[in-house]
This record gives sequence, structure tokens and C-alpha cells, in this order.
Amino acid sequence: MKLTIDGKECTAQSGETLLEVARRNGVDIPTLCYHEALEPRGACRMCMVEIGNPKHPGWKKLVASCVYPVEEGLVVKTATDEIKEVRKTLLDLLLARTPDAPVIKDMAKDFGLSETTFKKREPADDCILCGMCVRVCEDVIGANAIGMSGRGVYKKAGPALGKASSECIGCGACAHVCPTNCIEVIDEGMSRRIPRWADVEFELVPCRICGKPVSTRKHLDFVRNKVDVGQQVLETCSDCLRKYYGSKVAVEGHM
Ligand code: SF4
Ligand code: SF4
Repeated sequence: MKLTIDGKECTAQSGETLLEVARRNGVDIPTLCYHEALEPRGACRMCMVEIGNPKHPGWKKLVASCVYPVEEGLVVKTATDEIKEVRKTLLDLLLARTPDAPVIKDMAKDFGLSETTFKKREPADDCILCGMCVRVCEDVIGANAIGMSGRGVYKKAGPALGKASSECIGCGACAHVCPTNCIEVIDEGMSRRIPRWADVEFELVPCRICGKPVSTRKHLDFVRNKVDVGQQVLETCSDCLRKYYGSKVAVEGHM
């Protein structure tokens, strides 16, 4: 099917979202709670766009592009004055919660905001409560080590009752998806800590070939129990695996 995004004619497949098609066509739409590894939720509202349809003159609507499916003939505008105002207000509110988060500060600067116009939260925290860490831990990793708790100003992401969760395997996936980079993963020697969640040390397993840390012992044991992968493969880092299989393909290609 065909649709227009910011005046550009785009081709799309049924089931795709407006955000996917826009990005594929080089149209930048800002997001905070979107990650390819997770089901989109349209929670942060930064990806709002305006849609219209020539078949219904005068009709227009603001929708979250990360969850809105493409439709034949849609006319999409990603940066009208109204949309810019919505994004600016959202960033103003986020700045009040996370005045020191570099990602939020940079995005706000693009809308002419250097300070929030609301009351700043104290103490400041870089977490925007998007819940992506919780979702990746539950839906992708399957560890269920953290959750959202509390309400209103007391709402937060973390292990239950703020205590170290025995379910955490130290994989670091939560840090990987966190849009504000507020989950620090500290690897020192052969041990890992993720202080945001708990003061716990995880043993790191060295790569069998190069000796670089692969992941935590707990993470590799967790994967081994779920999928049928040999220990040798599990305990080899991705760089060495790539080299090994690359050279194997090259040798076999010349046989
Ligand atoms: S490091 Fe712990 S909390 Fe983070 S995704 Fe992995 S298991 Fe979940
Ligand atoms: S810690 Fe990061 S990923 Fe988790 S809720 Fe806060 S901002 Fe989102």
C-alpha cells in the first residue's frame, strides 16, 4: 500500500506501523519508549504524528506512530506546530522529573527548553518510569527480576521491596534498553555489579578463546537451562564465534 509521510510517497506492508515506515524512509520521529526488541506501547507519546486522509477532507487526528498501523492513502505529518507543542510539553514534564538526564536535556534543547517550567523533583533521578527495563527482563529475558511499584511520586522501577532479587542474572539487558542510560553496569576484573538494582556481585565468565568476559555465570547457566546450546559455544564471546564461523565458511568455501 501507499501513504505519504511529510510529503514523501512511501510504500508499506500491511501490519507495519507508521514509525517503522517513516524510519525506513529516512523520516526522523523522536521516541523514548521504543526499542526493536520490545512490543511498542505508545507510552511516552513522543512519537505522536498527525494523520489525515484525502477521502475524508478536514479529518485529522494525532496518534502514537509506534503503535498506529499503516493504512492506504494516509497523509502523515510528523512535525506540525501542534505536534511540536505536544513534544515540548512532554519534555518540560520529563525535565521536571529528570533535570540532569543528558538524553532528556538534549531532546528538550531541540525545543528551546533549557530548564523545566514545572517544579523540579527532589531528589532528582534520571529514570523516566518508561518501564522498558521491566518489560525486557520479563518479556525477552524471562527473568522477572524487577517490576514497577508505588504510585504517583513514589512510583519506581526495581526489585520488589527494594531488596536484591535472587531472580536477577546480571545479564544487563535492562541497561541496554534504558533510554536515559540510568542503569549502570560496572564490570571490574571478572565481576559485575548493577548498583541501581542491588549491591550484589556477579561472577563473569571469560571467553574460552580470548579471555574477554562473555557474561555472568548466572546468565549463562540460565540460558543453558532454557536452550540446547553447548557449553563451549556459550562460553565463547561473540567476536571469537564470528571469527571461528567466518574462517570455517571461508575454508569450506574453498574445498
Ligand atoms: S540484569 Fe537483572 S534486572 Fe536486568 S534484565 Fe537482566 S535479569 Fe533483569
Ligand atoms: S530505569 Fe530506565 S528503562 Fe527502567 S523505567 Fe527507568 S528510564 Fe525506563
